[in-house]
Amino acid sequence: MTYPDYEGDLAYLEQFRDDGDENVRLLEPLLAFRLSRAYRRSERLRGFLRIESAGRTRDAQQYLYDGWKDKRAGFNMAANPDRIIGSRGGFTFRGSWHMAQEDGFVYAVDLTHHGALSWDDAHDDLRASGLHTTVPGEPWHHQATTIKGPLPGPFPDGTTTEDEMTPELEEKLEGLATWVFNGTTMILKRLDELEQQLATTKGDDE
Ligand SMILES: [Zn+2]
Repeated sequence: MTYPDYEGDLAYLEQFRDDGDENVRLLEPLLAFRLSRAYRRSERLRGFLRIESAGRTRDAQQYLYDGWKDKRAGFNMAANPDRIIGSRGGFTFRGSWHMAQEDGFVYAVDLTHHGALSWDDAHDDLRASGLHTTVPGEPWHHQATTIKGPLPGPFPDGTTTEDEMTPELEEKLEGLATWVFNGTTMILKRLDELEQQLATTKGDDE
């Protein structure tokens, strides 16, 4: 389902394509809405953030997959277009998030930053408009929707969902807590050792 300014937003986004051949026309409505909003609200995104990869048709995905499978020169790893990513409410996501799904839309965009803009700063501005990184180790990959539905952020009808504790976020925080705990335990142990060493040294002196 699109919204009244969808076509206008797609046209607006075209100027931010990195090479000019990125197919922003396939972006799903919420992704197009949130990405246009992020650009409109941030001068640094307009200046230094570009769309590197928006979407491809199922045929294009098949072509990339076949090329990679047959080890043809110049082909990188590409997902099998028939691979099932997951299902939600009778809708099955297949292949790649960058592949047009059964509704004709693509659910991910890869961004690239130039010049003075860091990923941290870019992520601040993107997150403020509901665009989230969803693949660990890929700071460029952004989605507005996952298998579980829309991620927190603004909607074309003017409503906004706040960041809430999702299972993924909980898992991340748990991971962080474990990391901090382990780190702290390690430091405390090291301090103990140093203290004992000092005590021993002191003892020697005396
Ligand atoms: Zn991606």
